[in-house]
Amino acid sequence: MTNCLFCRIIAGEIPATRVYEDEHVIAFNDIAPQAPMHVLVVPKVHVATLNDLTPENDAVVGNMTRRAAAIAAERGYHASGFRTVFNCNADAGQAVFHIHMHLLGGRKLAWPPG
Ligand code: AMP
Ligand code: ZN
Repeated sequence: MTNCLFCRIIAGEIPATRVYEDEHVIAFNDIAPQAPMHVLVVPKVHVATLNDLTPENDAVVGNMTRRAAAIAAERGYHASGFRTVFNCNADAGQAVFHIHMHLLGGRKLAWPPG
């Protein structure tokens, strides 16, 4: 997917501040952070939206979730709290069509979201 921004970040063609990487997942700082911690946890496999997930993706999505919690813990936010978000399609404001988990923390987060 050479026209996909996050595939290009994964390939190293576009720079990003990586905070974690393994065989299946990368995590990097969001370019427009909405909280003191705003990390995007991204599977290396290209899946456009949550609607496109298949059972074969279950393990990688599970890994993303545990990785997000681990990054929050590394930053000391495991007890104070943090939020994970997947946006899907237009009404949720999805802008990059390669699934990604937003990991937000370091401030009190409002609920319900806007
Ligand atoms: P979403 O609206 O859920 O698709 O989120 C896309 C996120 O990607 C936004 O929070 C953007 O700030 C972020 N973003 C866009 N381009 C980059 C980039 N080059 N590096 C890091 N984050 C990016
Ligand atoms: Zn992609």
